[in-house]
Amino acid sequence: MPRRIVVIGGGFAGLFTVRGLRGSDAQVTVVDRAVHHLFQPLLYQVATGVLSEGQIAVPIRDLLKKHANVDCLVGNVSGVDPVARTLHVDRPGGGSIELGYDELVVAAGVQQSYFGHDEFAEHAPGMKTLADALQIRRRLFGAFEMAQTANDPIERQRWLTFALVGAGPTGVELAGQIRELATHTLKREFRRIDPGEARVLLFDGGDQPLAVFGPKLAGKAAAALTTLGVELHMHSVVTAVDEDGLLVRDGTGASTRYEAGTVLWTAGVSAPPVATVLAQACGAEQDRAGRIKVNDDLTMPGHPEISVIGDMMSLKGLPGVAEVAMQAGFYTGRRVRAVEAGRAWDKPFRYRDFGSAAYISRGRAVVSVGKVHLAGPVGWAAWLGIHLMFLTSFRNRFGALVTWGLTFSREKRRERAFSMQAVLPGRDIYDKDLYDLPGAAQERVALDRPAAALPND
Ligand SMILES: Cc1cc2nc3c(=O)[nH]c(=O)nc-3n(C[C@H](O)[C@H](O)[C@H](O)COP(=O)(O)OP(=O)(O)OC[C@H]3O[C@@H](n4cnc5c(N)ncnc54)[C@H](O)[C@@H]3O)c2cc1C
Repeated sequence: MPRRIVVIGGGFAGLFTVRGLRGSDAQVTVVDRAVHHLFQPLLYQVATGVLSEGQIAVPIRDLLKKHANVDCLVGNVSGVDPVARTLHVDRPGGGSIELGYDELVVAAGVQQSYFGHDEFAEHAPGMKTLADALQIRRRLFGAFEMAQTANDPIERQRWLTFALVGAGPTGVELAGQIRELATHTLKREFRRIDPGEARVLLFDGGDQPLAVFGPKLAGKAAAALTTLGVELHMHSVVTAVDEDGLLVRDGTGASTRYEAGTVLWTAGVSAPPVATVLAQACGAEQDRAGRIKVNDDLTMPGHPEISVIGDMMSLKGLPGVAEVAMQAGFYTGRRVRAVEAGRAWDKPFRYRDFGSAAYISRGRAVVSVGKVHLAGPVGWAAWLGIHLMFLTSFRNRFGALVTWGLTFSREKRRERAFSMQAVLPGRDIYDKDLYDLPGAAQERVALDRPAAALPND
């Protein structure tokens, strides 16, 4: 009877575990609540109409089809019995299955955290999943459409105000893209509004955007964002969010209300519920974000048959980045294979840091590799190379290269299909009730801003 290895999560860590297991005789099952392996670092480009969903999301079973001993299941792992060595997996739409394992690899990533204010999520979507990116795309492009038909200048300005919470790589990338979208891509498309009037406000409690890149690159990023027209609000903590905007407490302790039609949350992460389920079942320790503390070989204390890897593990302050997840996955695959073959394994996991990169706008990115710090066009070229190298599958690499060529040279964003659902919460453009909202009658007046009011060059 072959050994049963179950991998929870088909992200970077899960996928690289399977790659590290190449040549193993074990029966491997990858369980993920999503169908696709997602290249999260480029989610913001799906959200802003540059790339299509298919360019960053590939079916997990397609990626693993050459691994004859690997099967894929779509389901949400909601329970673990470490004594019986079984998992409880919820099927989409109801029902569940029990899945036995001899070796368990938990690579379930992290989720957006609202720092105890989950109620913000309704009005300020985060960006972790494909659904999040598509929702943000709807909100961004929908906001310009709503501004175009708004008679009230206050309402118009509200729709043209975009607030982002969190000035890490994702917040910075989104902020830069929204300004580029407004000032380049949409520039010639609207007749009653000037998309270039769009305000992009970036809030963060820290001193500088992209603080993880160190003060020098962070300073360059701040200058590049300001040149783009992004309004930086550092030392600012968001204390409330609603449908029409947000309340912010600044460094002096004063609170200010900002009216914004779109609020996006990119501020924090926490481990998913399965981390707590596992920690409680095994008596393991979790860090403040709920990540599980692991041994040097990435197994759980007292449970050599369970590894926790990638974003969900807590080990020596390693960051939650794709490179850590990939290396941890590959290491674990090789370790499990060695154990299976009866070989001794005493090598601890060692992370080799290949650096990090963040995109700001066309021709501007920051890259940090050891002592080498790159910014501006050189940083941007390095960013391009890194992302092409790591995109999953040749087809996606080629597709992304062609799409970037078009976007960067001709301002074209080809992936702008969206429905009006969730621009106004829970409603779709084809929904007849959308046009029959309570109080809508008094709004049926002629547009007072003629099409000719704005130049279109
Ligand atoms: C917007 C964004 C931008 C980023 N940019 C960068 C970047 O520029 N550079 C960089 O290095 N890193 C970046 N990262 C971080 C990087 O994407 C993560 O570090 C990496 O994806 C972690 O891999 P993982 O396998 O641990 O988790 P994930 O890739 O998140 O995969 C976890 C998988 O587990 C599944 N799952 C979760 N819970 C369950 C459950 N209960 N049952 C079944 N399946 C479950 C999920 O569906 C998911 O497929 C970014 C992340 C985001 C969100």
